[in-house]
Amino acid sequence: MSASPNDIIAAIATAQGRAGIGVVRVSGPSLSSLATQLIGRVPAPRMAIRATFRDGAGVAIDDGIALFFPAPHSYTGEDVLELHGHGGPVVLQLLLSRALELGARIAEPGEFTRRAFLNDKLDLAQAEAVADVIEAATDVAARCAVRALQGEFSTAVRALVDRLIELRMLVEATLDFPEEELDPLDRADARRRLSDVRAELANALARARQGSLLRSGLSVVLAGQPNVGKSSLLNRLAGEDLAIVTAIPGTTRDTVRQTIQIDGVPLNIVDTAGLREAHDEVERIGIARTWSEIERADVLLLIVDARTGVTSADESIVARIPARLARLVVHNKVDLVPEQVRREDTGDSMHVYTSAKTGAGVDQLKKALLGLAGWEPSGESVYMARERHLDALRKAANRLAEAESVFGEPELFAEELRLAQRDLEGVTGKFTADDLLGEIFARFCIGK
Ligand code: GDP
Repeated sequence: MSASPNDIIAAIATAQGRAGIGVVRVSGPSLSSLATQLIGRVPAPRMAIRATFRDGAGVAIDDGIALFFPAPHSYTGEDVLELHGHGGPVVLQLLLSRALELGARIAEPGEFTRRAFLNDKLDLAQAEAVADVIEAATDVAARCAVRALQGEFSTAVRALVDRLIELRMLVEATLDFPEEELDPLDRADARRRLSDVRAELANALARARQGSLLRSGLSVVLAGQPNVGKSSLLNRLAGEDLAIVTAIPGTTRDTVRQTIQIDGVPLNIVDTAGLREAHDEVERIGIARTWSEIERADVLLLIVDARTGVTSADESIVARIPARLARLVVHNKVDLVPEQVRREDTGDSMHVYTSAKTGAGVDQLKKALLGLAGWEPSGESVYMARERHLDALRKAANRLAEAESVFGEPELFAEELRLAQRDLEGVTGKFTADDLLGEIFARFCIGK
């Protein structure tokens, strides 16, 4: 792991645009000189002070609040100076330029958090949670990310590591006394301990899988003829969370993507209505983009009119959707036919009967969608995990399964335990390659 850097970084930490307040954040090994030149003094630690931010000629750039967090009690573990000024793009740029003039350089995306990680303020899973809090698409995901930031997931992973270490110590200690009568691993009660750790790891993996779903959501391709009730049904699904429904039209002829949430699980909906004949280049680009989203989707949601069922026009679009996608056919407007609201599984697709008008069957539809997403509501909280974490947990679980199968050979057994421990430690970043760190932090926003 690289040593902590010794240069000063600065960035506008608040979003682009005009706002009541804007913050420039500076971090470095020592900021006394920069603070003195910019605001005339070094503020008392962790106390908000009123200050005039001045340029090189001593002319006021802005009037605001300065906060100083001396190392090591700061976000990055270095000296951190926060300048809270007016949230105008020009004034913030002037303030940033002044910090650069005084020796800072512009921070890379995620660099503050990277320094926090390098200075042991956060482990890697917590650092990733910082980005997840900012990017959370639903309230459930946001709360879950905050718990990860506070260390819930890391603590669970560390507890698993501790138990593996304990088991390794026992196994390795007994290996040193082969002359004892009892099988060394029996004495260590290794079998029971191993199965306990495996059960705990399986539980962590299940919770992490749920969390990963909360992060990325379910990607749904929406198909259906005009007027069958697609929009009405989406509104029903979004329910009270309608306020969070976002249409991301790009241009009107571009891919139409919407995100709604069901029980906090984001559903990213790609509408195939845009898949008409292309008349020009812009439309062609939009259609190509829709197809590439369809390629990556999880579920095909086909909405039909319960009075007509699946028509040949529906079939021609369904035929073009990758067969890999789970299929859910919704027979809407069931209020207009004598049919009952129900759910059927025909083997290759699932059918749900609904009325967007009366709301009948909508709960069943929600359950079916969440079921396809693999969402299993349970009393236990979920871990906000990324694919990287899931991968590490899965690898560790495989190692432990392997350990179980080589139980009669203590050396091999001990080696599998060691490898499982290494996999788990990758989650919290104990041994993480620099290029992976680079990749993780590059996805952060500037100023975080
Ligand atoms: P879309 O073109 O597929 O998005 O369909 P809309 O959601 O705009 O609905 C088309 C028409 O059908 C509207 O007049 C809706 O009020 C009506 N509609 C939608 N769902 C139902 C339903 O379940 N029952 C009945 N009776 N009418 C519905």
